[in-house]
Amino acid sequence: MSTTTVVNRSLRQVIPGQPTSDGAGVKLSRSIGAAPGLRVDPFLMLDEFYTDQPSDYLAGFPAHPHRGFETVTYMLDGHMQHKDNFGNTGDLAPGDVQWMTAARGIIHSEMPQQTEGRMRGFQLWLNLPAAEKMKPASYRDIPAAQMPFVALDGGGQARVIAGRLVQDSGVTTGAVSGGSTDPQYYDLHLPAGAEARVPVPAGHNAFVYLYEGGASVDGRAIALRGAALLSDGETLVLRAGESGARLLLIAGKPLREPVVQYGPFVMNTREEIEQALADYQSGQFGR
Ligand code: FE
Repeated sequence: MSTTTVVNRSLRQVIPGQPTSDGAGVKLSRSIGAAPGLRVDPFLMLDEFYTDQPSDYLAGFPAHPHRGFETVTYMLDGHMQHKDNFGNTGDLAPGDVQWMTAARGIIHSEMPQQTEGRMRGFQLWLNLPAAEKMKPASYRDIPAAQMPFVALDGGGQARVIAGRLVQDSGVTTGAVSGGSTDPQYYDLHLPAGAEARVPVPAGHNAFVYLYEGGASVDGRAIALRGAALLSDGETLVLRAGESGARLLLIAGKPLREPVVQYGPFVMNTREEIEQALADYQSGQFGR
């Protein structure tokens, strides 16, 4: 007899969001990466910024460097402008994504282009394997229109930012797909009572981040504004609560390499961090 058993992923651990500030004093909530032991390989950090108070965001993130990983910014509300030392300028409006591969080095600023109203979104840091940390930097703006919401089989919709979402109704490939960590990044909008079955590649580390409403996995409620880490498996079954749910589902193939981080530099050894500082101080970034 041969049977096919699909292993559902369950809730394993929650990394609560912790209030912090970064840049020139932008208030945000950090879950993944709030402490060195709270990374989820290959993800180094997840920040949510969500405020109606201009004083929380006006100072923005003036020019600063990155080396050794990628930053993925997803805007929900507000308007942010990116400028870098390669001469790129990019505007992020609601629903837009910026995928920046810092790799061997980039210096950029991320500044709000509004003086009032709500600013809301996420920034994810995705690690690069040792073999790719020193490749040339690159940068992509992905407008919301290139990532339309698609219908989920169990009700609701998903915006596929990265990876490949498989449903009975079809396969949707995100604006970014493949690569060494094969990142999957979906924004799920579920109406009240919906039950979504979302395949997640087995062996990938995965978490959900509930940012609105309520949802449960296997009858266990997911904490709002925390990264809920999932056990390994092939499928995540999510049930939305009475007010529906909006959540991010993020997964990636672990690198299993040493991580040495010094602020915005993430390398594999201490020597490489010292080299990053030396290169930055001597103006070698961006060449
Ligand atoms: Fe940055």
